[in-house]
Amino acid sequence: MNNCIFCKIVKKEIPATIVYEDEHTLAFMDIGPIVKGHVLVIPKTHYDPLTETPDEIVAQLHTVAKRIAQAQIDGLGADGVNIMQNNGAAAGQEVPHIHVHVIPRFTDDGHHWNWAAKKYDDFEEMAELAEKMLSSFHL
Ligand code: 5GP
Ligand code: ZN
Repeated sequence: MNNCIFCKIVKKEIPATIVYEDEHTLAFMDIGPIVKGHVLVIPKTHYDPLTETPDEIVAQLHTVAKRIAQAQIDGLGADGVNIMQNNGAAAGQEVPHIHVHVIPRFTDDGHHWNWAAKKYDDFEEMAELAEKMLSSFHL
């Protein structure tokens, strides 16, 4: 992918503050942190979105994300960690190269998710949506 900003970071064509690197995976500081210490974990090969990414790559990304979370707890004194992964503009994705956000959280860090729980009209509405998903589910 010629024009992908994260591919350019992989090729070291643009700078990034790298916190972890192996044969398949790169992790670096997010330039616009939700909370300071925010890290992005990406595969070195360009994939997008999650549903088009091979299972073993997804597993590698999340294994590294877990290690970064531990480093945020141990090294930054984080009290908690959010793991987040956006797919598609409707979901807030801005960079179309799969990436896992690892966000250290501190008591009173001032960040609040806009997480307003909604209600289903009734049990049937919820069951109908579950049924629609199940009918398209395949492993
Ligand atoms: P998305 O909204 O696609 O899930 O997240 C993209 C993330 O990439 C954002 O949090 C943004 O701050 C970060 N980002 C965008 N461009 C750059 C860059 O050039 N360098 C770094 N380190 N992070 C970037
Ligand atoms: Zn890319």
